[in-house]
Amino acid sequence: MASLLELTPEDFVDALRGEGQQRAYFVFDSSSQQMHVSHRSLQEIGDFFVSDARDFLQHEAVFLQIGPETGALFGAFIHCTRRGQAQGGLRHWPYPNLEAYLRDGLRLAVGMGRKASLAGLWWGGGKGVIARQSDEQSGEQFRDPEYRKLLYGEYGDFVSSLHGAYLTAEDAGTTPHDMATVYQHTRFMSCAPIRVGGSGNPSISTAAGVVGAQEAALDFLGRGTLKDKRIAMQGTGNVGSAMIGMLLEKGVRSIIASELSLDARAALLDCYADAPLEVRLVEPGDVSILAEPCDILVPNALGGVLNPETIPKIEARIVCGSANNQLLDDARDGLGLLEHGITYVPDFVANRMGIVNCGNEQYGRLSGDPAIERHLGREWENSIHVVTQRVLERSQREGITPVEAANRGADEAMRELHPIWEHRAWDIIQSLVRDEWHQAGTL
Ligand code: NAD
Repeated sequence: MASLLELTPEDFVDALRGEGQQRAYFVFDSSSQQMHVSHRSLQEIGDFFVSDARDFLQHEAVFLQIGPETGALFGAFIHCTRRGQAQGGLRHWPYPNLEAYLRDGLRLAVGMGRKASLAGLWWGGGKGVIARQSDEQSGEQFRDPEYRKLLYGEYGDFVSSLHGAYLTAEDAGTTPHDMATVYQHTRFMSCAPIRVGGSGNPSISTAAGVVGAQEAALDFLGRGTLKDKRIAMQGTGNVGSAMIGMLLEKGVRSIIASELSLDARAALLDCYADAPLEVRLVEPGDVSILAEPCDILVPNALGGVLNPETIPKIEARIVCGSANNQLLDDARDGLGLLEHGITYVPDFVANRMGIVNCGNEQYGRLSGDPAIERHLGREWENSIHVVTQRVLERSQREGITPVEAANRGADEAMRELHPIWEHRAWDIIQSLVRDEWHQAGTL
């Protein structure tokens, strides 16, 4: 029999349905170091988790469900909830097979927990993933607003059924409009629409956080401030365009940016007509900007741009930008940068303001919110400035890459228990198992 892991998400859904199943869970048992699996027929997946050393890091649980009407595959991946309920955005993405789907969820959940704990937030690590149904089967229905309403409504119901073990939010493939639908189906979410008290677009805050990390790195290296520095930037979208204004205010000598969009370029040149700013129009996939001589290289577009092909061409001393997953391979490319004498500020240290901005929105907001502003200052022990310098110092002291240093710091912080609720999300997971959560969806 073919491995379940090799099936496309659609075929896996068919296989589950063939067994009369709508839901499945995998819950880690730390005493036996095995996954407790809801259905014996899915044991192969439980075994895959515990035998994998790369992406499975003793995740507390994975919950899967088939969308009742859409037939889409929904997942909630929960890494560690010692600091609080698992929180992380909802990715809606195509995957070639079940293994790729599961690996992405596992990896992203760890990343969210690390980002939150380094930011001093009392949240655990989680991620939602909807396998985007293939274009051949769905005829691009994922673009259809009515279908999306149904899909995200179903996903919201799925999140509600998990009783708060996982809180969802926006991520790649999911739009603010989709989050408005999710909001109608579950209270366990952040990034709600502004009109219902949500936090809105975090891009300006994200840009300010990245600029703070750049200043921290310059200071750490004894290279002064941003004044008179040369900047090369890839991507001038929401974050990049806001960052350009901030960098110019800091007195940088020049900014050379690359951008795909004619309109974005025109708007920037219009706004900063007399500024030392050049915006080059490039084709998709272009990485020529990375070879630009500069003090700081700022990837603000895509992931994976730091790899064995690009790293030898980089002329910057510091790389610090907002794009997620800038290293194609954390270990290999982190080392590559180190060997080339380039100081890399890990993306999840610099770009945390997205989650900071929306993560605590249920606690209310005030203008100049100190709970947000302290991340951008230099006093608080978990501010971007302090954490960036701590990570770079540890990297130097222990002879490891900044990514490894950040991961170690994050993993230590992740073990701390929530000061009020302790390990309650784990209790919720246990209660879902006791209450046979998986049976509620049985056909
Ligand atoms: P965006 O889509 O608004 O901007 C990205 C820009 O990059 C677009 O204008 C696009 O045309 C351009 N681009 C794409 N490929 C390019 C290339 N090869 N060369 C030059 N330009 C290229 O996205 P954003 O909201 O500005 O976010 C930027 C990055 O930061 C993304 O990776 C995002 O995941 C990450 N991020 C954003 C936030 C946030 O608050 N928006 C928070 C955390 C992380």
